[in-house]
Amino acid sequence: MNQFVDDIGEAVKAKNPGEIEFHQAVIEVAESIELVYEKYPHYRSYKIFERMVEPERVIMFRVPWMDDQGEIQINRGFRIEMNSAIGPYKGGLRFHPSVNLGILKFLAFEQVFKNSLTSLPIGGGKGGSDFDPKGKSDNEVMRFCQSFMSELFRHIGPDTDVPAGDIGVGGREIGFMFGQYKRLKNEFTGVLTGKGLNWGGSLIRPEATGYGAVYMAAEMLATRNETLEGKTCLVSGSGNVAQYTTEKLLELGAKIVTLSDSSGYIYDEKGIDREKLEFVMDLKNVRRGRIKEYVDKFPDAVYTPSDPSADFNPLWNHKAQCAFPSATQNEINGKDAQHLLDNGVYVVSEGANMPTTLDGVKLFLDAGILYAPGKAANAGGVAVSGLEMAQNSSRLPWTREEVDKRLQMIMKNIHKTCVDQAEHFGTPGNYVNGANIGGFIKVADAMIDQGLV
Ligand code: NDP
Repeated sequence: MNQFVDDIGEAVKAKNPGEIEFHQAVIEVAESIELVYEKYPHYRSYKIFERMVEPERVIMFRVPWMDDQGEIQINRGFRIEMNSAIGPYKGGLRFHPSVNLGILKFLAFEQVFKNSLTSLPIGGGKGGSDFDPKGKSDNEVMRFCQSFMSELFRHIGPDTDVPAGDIGVGGREIGFMFGQYKRLKNEFTGVLTGKGLNWGGSLIRPEATGYGAVYMAAEMLATRNETLEGKTCLVSGSGNVAQYTTEKLLELGAKIVTLSDSSGYIYDEKGIDREKLEFVMDLKNVRRGRIKEYVDKFPDAVYTPSDPSADFNPLWNHKAQCAFPSATQNEINGKDAQHLLDNGVYVVSEGANMPTTLDGVKLFLDAGILYAPGKAANAGGVAVSGLEMAQNSSRLPWTREEVDKRLQMIMKNIHKTCVDQAEHFGTPGNYVNGANIGGFIKVADAMIDQGLV
């Protein structure tokens, strides 16, 4: 490791003890920024990166609510307002028991680069709670969301900070939070994205992250004159991103053989077709069941439960050409990455945020495969959130075709930025450097223009 990465790594670890995911995200980006500091030393003298690792504001609050048994429950709420140099803070809310300050800081940090890459005027933020919506009734989820928004509302606004969904936060949760915001502020504004279509949402927003990750894979393959048609794909997760990744892959003629949730994964050698995907969507979005039920309905498939004591995930150990990690952070470790390479995978497009550990990333880069990191590959979600904000401001909804066309154009541009910047900084084909540097430059220049704030 070089001196700059060592120094910033040590400083961030000392100031943010125990926040391992945040340390990991910073170190990964720092390795790219070192190249920028060498080529353009003025960024070093302005200490841009050193400023970017410090959030502009961190908000933490109590979220009390009452469950269906009349018992009081207490969760913790967060919002990290990371960087507003190029626009209002923007980034999702995550409701999951694993949520803590370090995870949200890593997500907010990644979001700054991702949002910059979209070329839309949006800064970076992230938030959420350690609340677990799994197994809760609709009424419990509503009471929690109302309590959460009763504090968050004073920190956000359509020109200040515009949250969206993430793990555990879908259309239902956004609806309850939007309702409470509107009630408290007496304002109907585009303060959240991912809204319902009847009340300010954008067509294609639910699909955007998954579709975008597939468009990114298609762009990468095009550099080798190949397409997704006929390719076998491993997809993890079975939530929003996994579902629409699968949908778009099917449309483009690929074969999808896996899906998962936190309890285990299914392997369907025959491929997950439209009918099977419809079953999964109903299972996950309506009945809120477990992926295990897939094999009850389609007995040719095999279910393997998660083994918390294992040091690899067997989902990544099947023959395929493409992988779309779409569940959560660090779901591909070094061993998994090696399994993917050994099984013939040469396209990895990350729908999830930071799903690959640092040693896994290194293996992909050394192998020279087509590897798009999350901040580039999954930027389609926030991009369409940005388009939702534009539609809200103009009070004019766009057609499905219009939004999808813009999403495809944005993903094409992100791909080009990655390729051009990687080349410009002497690491052709390295989408990690391309994305980190492409995201950094625009924010850095804006920070210099705006002075020491
Ligand atoms: P959902 O809540 O809709 O789905 C998440 C899926 O991942 C579920 O299948 C869930 O299983 C699984 N999962 C979650 N945590 C774990 C875990 N610790 N171990 C194993 N599996 C897990 O979330 P999304 O699809 O929206 O998000 C998935 C990923 O994509 C996240 O990394 C998110 O940050 C990223 N992302 C999402 C965007 C969006 O627009 N939604 C935008 C950009 C990135 P279970 O139900 O058992 O928990």
